[in-house]
Amino acid sequence: MNASPPPASLSQLVDDHLLHTIGVEPRRATPVDLVQAVSHIARAELSERWVQNQEQERNGKARRVVYLSMEFLMGRTLCNALAALGLTQETATVLMQRAKSMEDIASLELDAALGNGGLGRLASCFLDSMATLGLPSFGYGIRYEYGMFAQHILNGCQMENPDSWLKDGTIWEFPRPHIAYPVRFGGWVTHENDVARWAPAGEVTAKAYDMVIPGHGTDKVSTLRLWKAVAPDLIDLRAFNLGDYGRAASTKNEYENISWVLYPNDSTPAGRELRLKQEYFFVSASIQDLIHRHLEEHPGLENLAEHVAIHLNDTHPAIAVAELMRILHDDRAMPWNKAWNLCKAVFSYTNHTLMPEALETWDVALMQSVLPRHMEIIFRINKEFLDYAARLRPNDKPFIQRLSLIDDSGERRVRMAHLSVVASHHINGVSALHSELLTTTVFADFAAIWPERFTNVTNGITPRRWLAQANHGLAELLDETLGQTWRLHLEELQRLHNHLADIDFVRRFMTVKRANKARLAQHIAHTTGIEVNPESMFDVHVKRIHEYKRQLLNVLHVVTRYQAILADPKADWVPRTVIFAGKAASSYQTAKSIIRLIHDIGTTINNDPRVGDRLKVVFVPNYGVSVAEIILPGADLSEQISTAGTEASGTGNMKLALNGALTIGTDDGANIEIRQNVGDENIFIFGLKTPEVRALRIAGYHPVDYYQQNPALKAVLDAIASGQFSPDEPDRYRGLVDTLVWQGDHYMLLADYASYVAMQTKVDEVYRQPELWVNKAIRNVAGMGMFSSDRAIEEYARRIWRVQPDLR
Ligand SMILES: *Cc1c(COP(=O)(O)O)cnc(C)c1O
Repeated sequence: MNASPPPASLSQLVDDHLLHTIGVEPRRATPVDLVQAVSHIARAELSERWVQNQEQERNGKARRVVYLSMEFLMGRTLCNALAALGLTQETATVLMQRAKSMEDIASLELDAALGNGGLGRLASCFLDSMATLGLPSFGYGIRYEYGMFAQHILNGCQMENPDSWLKDGTIWEFPRPHIAYPVRFGGWVTHENDVARWAPAGEVTAKAYDMVIPGHGTDKVSTLRLWKAVAPDLIDLRAFNLGDYGRAASTKNEYENISWVLYPNDSTPAGRELRLKQEYFFVSASIQDLIHRHLEEHPGLENLAEHVAIHLNDTHPAIAVAELMRILHDDRAMPWNKAWNLCKAVFSYTNHTLMPEALETWDVALMQSVLPRHMEIIFRINKEFLDYAARLRPNDKPFIQRLSLIDDSGERRVRMAHLSVVASHHINGVSALHSELLTTTVFADFAAIWPERFTNVTNGITPRRWLAQANHGLAELLDETLGQTWRLHLEELQRLHNHLADIDFVRRFMTVKRANKARLAQHIAHTTGIEVNPESMFDVHVKRIHEYKRQLLNVLHVVTRYQAILADPKADWVPRTVIFAGKAASSYQTAKSIIRLIHDIGTTINNDPRVGDRLKVVFVPNYGVSVAEIILPGADLSEQISTAGTEASGTGNMKLALNGALTIGTDDGANIEIRQNVGDENIFIFGLKTPEVRALRIAGYHPVDYYQQNPALKAVLDAIASGQFSPDEPDRYRGLVDTLVWQGDHYMLLADYASYVAMQTKVDEVYRQPELWVNKAIRNVAGMGMFSSDRAIEEYARRIWRVQPDLR
């Protein structure tokens, strides 16, 4: 590793950058100037590493992983870069000499929020691990001008503000003006002697902007290459020369809007032409780029599969399959079968959801108009696949219809998940349960044909950001207790079991949690104006707001508790602060209504003098990576309460447990594996299990029965429905309650209510015994080793991509 410069020279470097790069007199530097100067130092180091790395990979003709993802939820870069470069301490010292704290300086950076939630954050954790493991790798995505919206709360309602993270530029990107590819759309296709000729109607240029992803404990880096859509010069020039400036501008906009804004995820397919163009845009540029790179190092494309593994992060990049076929077969005249075999050796695919409404499909007519040649290619892939399937099961027409890449049941639609499965040598789910369900539900027919293609890789999180960076107190304690290598070998946390009886260690562990809670309380006061007591239990439910994640079930418990406190104020209540955070997709009215309900209930409870400190409810606005870094370390209890069978994995559950929170959760996603790793007695699992959910649905689920038979539940629902928390508009939540009681309660909140509330009582009992609680918290941290994204990437590398990590 490079020796880091001593503070004196680092201080000199800061002055140099202030003077030469930023253009200010060092003595007059503002905090913004300082963050820029420090960032430039890190950027220069990263640049050097990147150049060296690229050179090594080129010379070694490395086999590379290409990770295609519509989303990367990166967060801030500075602290992570400094940590990777080994410059954290020195920089803090230099800043201190200038009367600034690292935290204040770092918080000036805007989050790069090019993702909605878990899927995008997973991609970012994976880049961190690929760099750290020294896997030759490229992440590819879109350089959205506007990322995930900023959430403000006005009178309890979510307001969305555009996230113009690039408005002042970002120091962390490396524009590569010479790396640009044309991406074409529309038009028609002609066929001559079996050769297809695509005459597109429009073209846009994809320009590369790189982010260098530093590895930790290594000089290796990875690259995140983001594409920006730029109108080709000639298009706006033509109108411009005719003096039609307005038209010149609007043509330009029409093309450039492709990379303007991140699509919100409301788990319904965005049936919009622009989204399809975005998907094709970044995929086409990425495939052209990887082919270009391959041809610089190899004479032809025959050996492409030996040197590239292309991974599809969900189906959003699935059109890559048709694009690679088009390039190989049409542009480079490779015979169809040879090209198809190459595809099957190159692609692999991760599925992220089982919910049928979230599986991506595209209208055939739309695809024909936007990507006419790709549509033909998909038809041919489908025909050959279905011929093959028909030979396996002659005369089983329903089987063929279920497998088809085209859904013929209504208006014809392309099933992108089927395209991904047919083209991939491996398909994985993201937790043991989810991968199992994949092969028994949505992909059961495919698993019958190709059982060997299906596998599991349980998700993971990077311990660098989610422990070392987010939780300095715990990181320092771990360093002193275990040494520093847990950052790269998270399984070493197991050794914490040897310290469970070490009174000094346990006391310090508690002190760290207490300090993190104080910090979180400060953030809450600052953002909401609500004072919370750090001595109370911090009960944390943070993630996208969605019905399946069941924030509403948590709300039902909160109101239950509120009513119970009023009924028996003298009882020995464990003081609780229930903390929510999360964004609702802007068009998802139910989710927005849940946010408002949380605020209304908070307002009532927090201002009820009869409740006092026993219960507080807060909603922290604008959940994102940087807000998560403050909330997660301060949590006592982690709410992971999705209906069993609906949360593919979850990664918030891992981050919270790694930071010493105990989980109350359902038998779902990675919660199951967390339980196996921390021990049954150190996690609070409640509710219906997946087979029980299914059985109840089949037998007929009648939520109204639960409503009528459980007086506590009835009292809660009646209070909400009758406007007790919205006296200014008593009917505000009647519809929300009706979806539970009268409209089927699709996510079965009422069925799990009693078991949830009972488990919350158990949580109180344990929390009343601080030594017992902290013992379980430590056992949670100790058991989280396998949830490092290093483990996940090592599994992908070995079992799916067949690439060698550069062994450290
Ligand atoms: C980890 C993370 C998520 C995913 O959380 P889940 O609880 O797994 O849904 C979403 N958003 C952000 C900002 C995260 O850091």
